Amino acid sequence: MLSAHERVYRPWPGVLAGHRAYLLPEISGVGLTLHEGGTPLVAAPRLGSRLGIDLHLKVEGQNPTGSFKDRGMVAAVAGAMAGGARTVVCASTGNTAASAAAYSARAGLKCLVILPAGAVSAGKVAQALVYGARLVPVRCGFDRALELARELAARTPAVLVNSLNPLRLEGQKTAAFEVASALGGAPDFLVLPVGNGGNIRAYWLGFQQYRRAGLIDRCPRIIGVQALGADPLVRGEPIAEPRTRATAICIGRPAGWNGAMDAIRESGGTVLAVDDSQIFAARDLLAADEGVFAEPASAAAAAGLACLAERGAVPCGSTVVLVLTGHGLKDPDAVLERACLPPVVEPEFPAILAAAGDGGAVDDPGI
Ligand SMILES: *Cc1c(COP(=O)(O)O)cnc(C)c1O
Repeated sequence: MLSAHERVYRPWPGVLAGHRAYLLPEISGVGLTLHEGGTPLVAAPRLGSRLGIDLHLKVEGQNPTGSFKDRGMVAAVAGAMAGGARTVVCASTGNTAASAAAYSARAGLKCLVILPAGAVSAGKVAQALVYGARLVPVRCGFDRALELARELAARTPAVLVNSLNPLRLEGQKTAAFEVASALGGAPDFLVLPVGNGGNIRAYWLGFQQYRRAGLIDRCPRIIGVQALGADPLVRGEPIAEPRTRATAICIGRPAGWNGAMDAIRESGGTVLAVDDSQIFAARDLLAADEGVFAEPASAAAAAGLACLAERGAVPCGSTVVLVLTGHGLKDPDAVLERACLPPVVEPEFPAILAAAGDGGAVDDPGI
């Protein structure tokens, strides 16, 4: 038997316990966790040197359900538990559904998810199903699905756990705390994708709270990236039928519009849009350069950063944190539908060698 002294492994306690001192008391004491948060800030030296910056990746895909949504969801579901709720409801482009389903399973609550039919990736639907949520696919986009979820929460005792629920941002702001502690201060720039506009505001709240507490002496400039075709904040007007392959940010009327624009303005940042082909190129580069696989919405932030660095808007030598909001495995079709798998060969050595050599995969066969 290992003695207590030898049991050196101490897991990160999760968002509520790990950041207790900086969270609202009404949730910080609720013992709900899947050990979300505490994600690594991974140095990205190859991609960083291409862009001439000191680049770090906040890898939120390492959360329990594979996206940053877990930080906010543990807080929102803890709030629902504390308030005696039995059911939570959300509209979702996928990651909110996966996370709400997981945390309500953990908490013993029922979970109802309104999904824009056909606009959610397979991995995310599979997660919500397995965690036992009740799924209601609706013939509409995310914006209408959110209206319906709000109406349901207004007319029934179910608690809305979309980012309109302020506890979501309360949980999500903890990512800013972790970035600041990992770097020993704020970066010069923080770059992240923007869909409904909750997360960008949450980061801004988190950095401001740490500055007020005297833990950091300044806040970063915050740069939001949208997908061209789903870029209402860039255009300055809502988009009735948003379109992008980056389904997690396919939103035309962000509920968090004002909060997102405030975060950008107050931090001295900006918002820009990149197209789907830039998104896929950035995803592939991130994976090949750094070994980190992010879903398309997250790769949008990488593509936006590359644009700004090329324009000189992010000066050489700046410290930059790129938030990779979701794991690439959430949406394997986004890879496979564009890739060409090599032909199957016979299980004979010469065939293998020929196939491997064609791709240049074998440096020096020595035969
Ligand atoms: C939800 C989500 C976003 C967008 O976050 P908002 O708070 O809606 O702006 C970006 N990327 C991924 C992977 C997401 O799941």
